Amino acid sequence: MVSFFLFVFGIVIGSFLNVVSMRYNGEHFVFDPKVIGGRSHCEHCKETLRWFELVPLFSFLVQGGRCRRCKAKLSLQYPAVEFISGLIFVAVPWRLAALTDGGPLALFIAALWTLAFLIFLLMSVIDIRIGIVPDELNIALGAVAIALGASLVVSPEGSGSLMGSLGDMFGLNGNLWTSRVVGAIFGFIFFEFLILVTRGKGIGMGDVKLALPLGLLFGWPDIIPVIMCAFICGALVGIFLIVSKKTTMKGVLPFGPFLAFGAAFIFFCGAPMAQWYLHLIGL
Ligand SMILES: [Zn+2]
Repeated sequence: MVSFFLFVFGIVIGSFLNVVSMRYNGEHFVFDPKVIGGRSHCEHCKETLRWFELVPLFSFLVQGGRCRRCKAKLSLQYPAVEFISGLIFVAVPWRLAALTDGGPLALFIAALWTLAFLIFLLMSVIDIRIGIVPDELNIALGAVAIALGASLVVSPEGSGSLMGSLGDMFGLNGNLWTSRVVGAIFGFIFFEFLILVTRGKGIGMGDVKLALPLGLLFGWPDIIPVIMCAFICGALVGIFLIVSKKTTMKGVLPFGPFLAFGAAFIFFCGAPMAQWYLHLIGL
């Protein structure tokens, strides 16, 4: 029952994220009320949408993915973002419940991680649409990471590596802030190095900036598998797009969504994956 309400609340938030991402063009603040305010209209016939055309997920399904008036196909982004947002609201608290026994700040910590993944989602959609990682979202993510670090100092349960005992082998887990700061510095230096090697052609400045709050959020050593996972996933998608002739070797892929995917993958599957790996090498 709680999960159902969280999911419904999540798809409503997802609907809001859709509006923000569709209206953002890089020229104004992401949450500028002048831009995100006002009634929604069909991208195609410009007709203002009625309330029953704005019910998250439901309207899209009932209308068969088309505008009620002009029958233009609606972007799959709408139901996809709404669904993922709903999923975030259910899955993040569920994952954290498995990680801890619920300290005094458990609810607050769950809210912060949920917020972090919502920022990842919005950032990914904007990056895919216009190839920009907005600075204000990076700053927001950094603020969430700092608030999370402060909460984990008070309520340290589950503050260790998301990679379980594999993470502990890399040290620094004893000191939360050292781990976070080293994670941020590592992410930043790693991407700076990539820019140097590829002479700025392979990776954008937006990704370098994203590496900072990402490292602060995950800390050392968890930032390493997050980045590794992003690169593996990015390479697979890149190969697929080249083979299916949707892009060429010179085409640039927005990398933000892959970093977001890496973050989600390690958050949800880091521990079982690390266990599998330890088993594989016989430890
Ligand atoms: Zn229309």
